[in-house]
Amino acid sequence: MIIDIHTHVFDAAQHFGPKLNADLVRCGVDPAVWGNVEERHLETTKAADVAVVFGLQASATGWNIPNEVVAAHVAKAPERLLFFASIDPLQQDYMDELEKCHRHLGAVGVKLAPLYQNAHPQDKRYYDIYRYCQKNGLPILFHAGTSFVSGTPLDYSRPVHFDTVAVDFPDLHMVLAHLGHPWEGETIAVIRRHANVYADISALYYRPWQFYNSMRLLTEYKAQHKVLFGSDFPFTTTGDSIKNIRALNAVTGTSGLPQVPADVIEEIIHRDALRLLNLPNPLQK
Ligand SMILES: [Zn+2]
Repeated sequence: MIIDIHTHVFDAAQHFGPKLNADLVRCGVDPAVWGNVEERHLETTKAADVAVVFGLQASATGWNIPNEVVAAHVAKAPERLLFFASIDPLQQDYMDELEKCHRHLGAVGVKLAPLYQNAHPQDKRYYDIYRYCQKNGLPILFHAGTSFVSGTPLDYSRPVHFDTVAVDFPDLHMVLAHLGHPWEGETIAVIRRHANVYADISALYYRPWQFYNSMRLLTEYKAQHKVLFGSDFPFTTTGDSIKNIRALNAVTGTSGLPQVPADVIEEIIHRDALRLLNLPNPLQK
């Protein structure tokens, strides 16, 4: 079984604010390359058995993908999609939004992004959210590491801040996205010391040298069992991610550098994130 733990849906024309559009222009990204994201999501995530889907609520950086939109998208393929709610701590009613998503919209987890939401992981509003999630068994997937967005402190994305959260909420299941790039080593240090903290390898394969080194480091620390497969659709697809992760040793060429063992790669691709994060299996509904 393959679980894609990290996929997005949005309609850039409707859901992106001026600040986000300016950041995209600055970085040379044209949202048109993603096509119809919702249609492509339904099609391309078939390369996995189950996909976790979220939008993003981050007023500080111009993201406004309503949770209702994501829940309605998941309802188109409830046998293989799971909805994570995105909660923006800068909104007055952030706890009401969380409870609504959990009780009425079918959210089985939460997506937070301190760098995008302009709040430190130890912010007391986040602590309200962590408390609710721990109590109700909702895992949290955090954006960790860098991003193209501007105007907020990169420090909020440092993996080490989630170490403190894990100390304060030992029963909270957490996933640190993108191995916290470019602080993959810091992320590995965090995930190996907390039973319920994991990382995903979404959006990394297209920096092949760094990805190879991160995977070697992961193997040397023997922390590969704490890593989950994810794509970060629409920035890539589930199928392209699987294909390119399998090819990660190609960067070593004829150098004689040590390989990342094939069984390590396959175990990550096939890791049962549903069981590890106590998520319902939509295939068994
Ligand atoms: Zn993402």
